[in-house]
Amino acid sequence: MRLADGYDALLFDLDGVLYRGDRTIEGAPETVAALRASGHRIAFVTNNSARTPEQVAAKLTGHGVVADEAEIVTSALATGELLAADGGSAYVVGEAGIREALLEAGLDVIEGEPAAVDVVVVGWDRDLTYAKLRTASLLVERGARLVATNADRSFPAPDGFWPGAGAILSVITTTTGVEAEIVGKPHPPLYEAAVRRTGGRQPLVIGDRIETDIAGAVALGWDSLLVLSGVTSPEDLGASPVRPTYVADDVRALLGDLARARADANG
Ligand SMILES: [Mg+2]
Repeated sequence: MRLADGYDALLFDLDGVLYRGDRTIEGAPETVAALRASGHRIAFVTNNSARTPEQVAAKLTGHGVVADEAEIVTSALATGELLAADGGSAYVVGEAGIREALLEAGLDVIEGEPAAVDVVVVGWDRDLTYAKLRTASLLVERGARLVATNADRSFPAPDGFWPGAGAILSVITTTTGVEAEIVGKPHPPLYEAAVRRTGGRQPLVIGDRIETDIAGAVALGWDSLLVLSGVTSPEDLGASPVRPTYVADDVRALLGDLARARADANG
């Protein structure tokens, strides 16, 4: 039996799984195509809230991985779904992906320096300013709900680590003493939104980062495949208390033997 055959929804992380920076990971395009051909439902799941689904689909397609915009589930989209029920006004510290997702979810995104809003949404923002942090903090002090797309401490850039959404969020939580609701991995809302999107019932999470991708799957009681084509080394895995269901060098294992990947996970 092939590893992927026991699951009807495959939730793929992106960087470190399908590509690494500008480099396509070997076998990723062919593997995704073969899984599609065998009827698996696929979602591409990312904590990055800056890019729109259209931009993410274009990046994947550039790597030869065929992706439909409707299969992309970003933490910005999941944040929009989370907030759609209550609606209201929002102040955003973040980029185009969040703004677009909130507008589509029916929220009123307020620019400038509003006196009050219903919710402050924080994500990765490469145009961050002190004025934005000040406005966001004041709004939270005045009672706005604080929601973060994700709490990634850093963003792995080609020249090193840049401050991530979590680092930005920490300025506001430190200032206000208010804890944020977090949407992205390892918290459940993003994964739950992704599975809803696929309509599947038996999800398998495929990721390269133990503390987000795999820990998020474990928290929901879902199976996971850790691939070693990204940030995690076998030594990292050995030192971690979090155990994936399967371990493999890369995504090609999805088409490989189930027993083999399970055995590798058990060392
Ligand atoms: Mg990754």
